[in-house]
Amino acid sequence: MNDTACSPAQVTVDLDAIAHNVRVLRERAGTDLMAVVKADGYGHGLVPSARAALAGGAVALGVAQPAEALALRAARVGAPVLCWLLTPAMDADALLAADVQLASSAPWSLDAIAQAARRAGRTAEVQLKADTGLARGGAFTLPVATAPDPRTDFEVLVRHAAALEAEGALRVVGVFSHFAYADAPEHPTVRAQQEAFADAVRLAERAGLRLQVRHLSNSAATLTTPAAAWDMVRPGLAVYGLSPVPEIASAADLGLRPAMRVTAQVSVTKRIPAGQGVSYGHTYAPERATTVVDVPIGYADGVPRHASNAGPVQLGGQRFAVSGRVCMDQFVVDVGDTPVEAGDEVVLFGAGDDGEPTAQEWAEAAGTISYEIVSRFGPRLPRRHVGEVGA
Ligand SMILES: *Cc1c(COP(=O)(O)O)cnc(C)c1O
Repeated sequence: MNDTACSPAQVTVDLDAIAHNVRVLRERAGTDLMAVVKADGYGHGLVPSARAALAGGAVALGVAQPAEALALRAARVGAPVLCWLLTPAMDADALLAADVQLASSAPWSLDAIAQAARRAGRTAEVQLKADTGLARGGAFTLPVATAPDPRTDFEVLVRHAAALEAEGALRVVGVFSHFAYADAPEHPTVRAQQEAFADAVRLAERAGLRLQVRHLSNSAATLTTPAAAWDMVRPGLAVYGLSPVPEIASAADLGLRPAMRVTAQVSVTKRIPAGQGVSYGHTYAPERATTVVDVPIGYADGVPRHASNAGPVQLGGQRFAVSGRVCMDQFVVDVGDTPVEAGDEVVLFGAGDDGEPTAQEWAEAAGTISYEIVSRFGPRLPRRHVGEVGA
């Protein structure tokens, strides 16, 4: 990690904003909250984000990869951690020793977890992941007419888990699932998945599993479909203060505070004549003589190349846009006749309170979602964490 003071560009993360967002989401849901901190806390820093979310009242943390769960434990984060992206390459012994709850989508992972539990002479806690219609992770809860086994994958998983539980190798503490279309709350799949989830929970409970938690709602469902909250909600994006439903409501409308701010210092300024092509491929050329500035942050840092000639920035309180292509380490901005010096601060995005662009605006400029904007800011950029909860 670079030294913030010497680096040409930096990410600043407001941990108080994360804690605030968790409070807002908990109140909204009226249930417990698991904060999703996968992908380095959506680019905000795994451990500081986790601590801030817990300070805001999260009761558990969710991650995708096993290494993320182990990194939380290595940093002495003690809250319950659920990890849901397992492959046979995982180190089940290490995960069990670190008290990580594992989410099983298939009998093979139950077997791997049970074997690790037997080796350690203890009982592993698992949650069963039901696929209620996303057709991604999880055991499918819907019948497939052409399948060789008339039972659903989820039913097979439940029976297998119940047998291992009876043997004492593991204990099933939860069932969860994930929406395909939570950002379109009127979409028929939202209701269909809620019904399929209720069926999956019933099936698990009838098989004798004593579930402590049943959870289904990501950020969008937490904010738009309160009936889906069950015992716990499981938001990620909204924890970091971004709207998962930008067409329906902005972060500000939802009472969320964007936590990430990305800035860079101008490295070079120069006058160029009318018609001079700018950056690779000369996809931009000013109509009159102008000042261009180099902004030393590029696609290797996470600035999307798709935002060439589009991404918004703020410089000296004024708005400008990327001029020409985004390069690996820098991009250029035509600032007209505005006086700018090397070292002046360029804001790519922030909370938006002072007229600066937001991550959502960068998402629109690049034709993507704000999730991708924040989570791709990479390890070359130093992260500075500010806020009371980080102190
Ligand atoms: C990433 C993820 C979440 C969080 O989703 P958001 O849309 O960021 O709220 C919740 N559950 C699972 C299984 C996930 O993979």
